[in-house]
Amino acid sequence: MKLMVYPGSFDPITVGHLDIITRAAKMTDKLIVAIMNNSEKKYFFTLEERLEMIRKSVAHLKNVEADFSDGLMVEYMKKRGAAAAVRGLRAITDFEYELQWVTLNQKLDPDFQALFMMASSENSFLSSSIVREIGRLGGDISKMVPACVHGFIKEKLTAEKNKGE
Ligand code: ADP
Repeated sequence: MKLMVYPGSFDPITVGHLDIITRAAKMTDKLIVAIMNNSEKKYFFTLEERLEMIRKSVAHLKNVEADFSDGLMVEYMKKRGAAAAVRGLRAITDFEYELQWVTLNQKLDPDFQALFMMASSENSFLSSSIVREIGRLGGDISKMVPACVHGFIKEKLTAEKNKGE
């Protein structure tokens, strides 16, 4: 069985992520959307919230699973027997970061493989941070995130905004 991993922060999952997931799931037997949880990094959504949002968003895709790891991604991939990591490339700005990321992972594991998928043009300028920013300012994020998690994200953003005021 061919298994691939789609690693990321997913803080929160966007329609751009879901587009990559939907297309990648057709190219493998199993796709694991894996939150790479970095304990040094501050996230807006908790690990549990991010996992729950991914689970809801991929519920209709039978060969997609959500998981997380607090450790090295290459170790997680070995543990799961993953053939490759899937990543999405937006516009041109992602390229340099992704090149560094692949090079680093290849140093950690010479057998590491990554597959890159181009973002759809309509999602090419969409990121989790844009969703957080627009949401915080009260803008409409309904087309930026999967419909099933829109209400949840809106509520959390409103609660955080009220807390800060
Ligand atoms: P990270 O914090 O590791 O970059 P993200 O969750 O933001 O994790 O993104 C995971 C992967 O999805 C990255 O390869 C990123 O380039 C890609 N990605 C993010 N947003 C989009 C989008 N709108 N369209 C396509 N790919 C995307």
